[in-house]
Amino acid sequence: STLDPATDALIEARARVLGPGYRLFYDTPVHLVRGRGSHLFDVDGVRYLDAYNNVPGVGHAHPAVTEAVTRALSTLNTHTRYLHEEIVRYSRRLLATMPEHLDRVTYACTGSEANDLALRIAHRYTGRRGVVVTADAYHGNTAAVTAISPSNGDADTPTDHVRRVPAPDTYRENGTAGARFAADVRAAIADLDAAGVGVGAFIVDTVFSSDGIYTDADLVGEAVGAVHAAGGLFIADEVQPGFARTGESMWGFGRHGVQPDLVTLGKPMGNGVPISAVVARSVVSDSFSSDIPYFNTCGGTPMSIAAASAVLDVIEDEKLMTNAADVGDALRAGIAEVAGSSPMIGDVRGVGLYTGVEVVAPGTTDGDRAAARTLVNRLRDRQVLISICGRDGNVLKIRPPLVFSLSDVDWFCTEFADACAHIG
Ligand code: PMP
Repeated sequence: STLDPATDALIEARARVLGPGYRLFYDTPVHLVRGRGSHLFDVDGVRYLDAYNNVPGVGHAHPAVTEAVTRALSTLNTHTRYLHEEIVRYSRRLLATMPEHLDRVTYACTGSEANDLALRIAHRYTGRRGVVVTADAYHGNTAAVTAISPSNGDADTPTDHVRRVPAPDTYRENGTAGARFAADVRAAIADLDAAGVGVGAFIVDTVFSSDGIYTDADLVGEAVGAVHAAGGLFIADEVQPGFARTGESMWGFGRHGVQPDLVTLGKPMGNGVPISAVVARSVVSDSFSSDIPYFNTCGGTPMSIAAASAVLDVIEDEKLMTNAADVGDALRAGIAEVAGSSPMIGDVRGVGLYTGVEVVAPGTTDGDRAAARTLVNRLRDRQVLISICGRDGNVLKIRPPLVFSLSDVDWFCTEFADACAHIG
């Protein structure tokens, strides 16, 4: 082993009780004990730049969230079968950020549960079970949602009703990605019809975070039109792009000029306190909930609602949407500058504080997974934390808390330039 004895012992003890499912990031795993804003601190007090975690959207250990949660937890934390004013107040506030036709909200705890419920609602409303999904998507880990999460590998649950369509690859399908995507979605719908299943839902993470991060505007409109024409519903999975990350809207679907029938929320919604939601048109939502009971014990409790309310407060008070736009642009400009002298960087793209960087074999558009992994590990050795995504595992995924600052950008770009220079 290459690590110090205490780290080795912890890794071993962890594996003994948690087993092989609990993967660790990096060749040299990081042992964190504290976080603040966009910075993390390890057991030796070393400071890291968090350029990866989106759950703490408003920053690690934000005092406003801590205070709201502490107050709620030390006052009352029951479930939704009792009257409580805060859930009504928050729901109104949340719905006010959405297009007017989306007027119902149902709370759960995880993004997986939200997507699971959205699928059930779509099935109920349309009478059709078919789902069209992108080819390397991740939408969660329940039995039903695993079936629509190809990035997990082959699902261990039935997928006869699922059709996979490659995401619009704006790097390799220059100018034609959206049209090709729509054509493939039409073919998938026809295939579901031919199989006697029919399309109930088309679900998209509108920044394609698992597929490889494709952030051009207007990529999904034509495909959504085809789904609507066939009587299917469009589910916008906002677990990744939602809550101001794109820097131009609270929601990622906004940049595609589309109207979702169902919107699913999660991750940053409670800044780490588990809370998620399905937002829908009432006619769609009620077609399910009028007949079928849905109760989620910890979904929408006073504590989780307090966290979610504090998150909206902080996004507004600290102008985090504007920050995401400005700092995200500065970050990509800095990375592009490094890319100019680094032939293994094929593309730098993103919106707000969601950035993807293609690591390729020089002179080609072929993804180089090994080089991407090396780069991620060399950055970790320089206390800068990111990860990778995409079909070929070669796209750097840079997705910091929304409080990322211009000095964080400088820190990132200095280490990024150095790491690139030491690889090739
Ligand atoms: N949808 C998307 C787009 C996600 O990225 C994730 C989590 N990575 C989920 C759904 C599932 O959320 P959770 O892990 O909270 O179940």
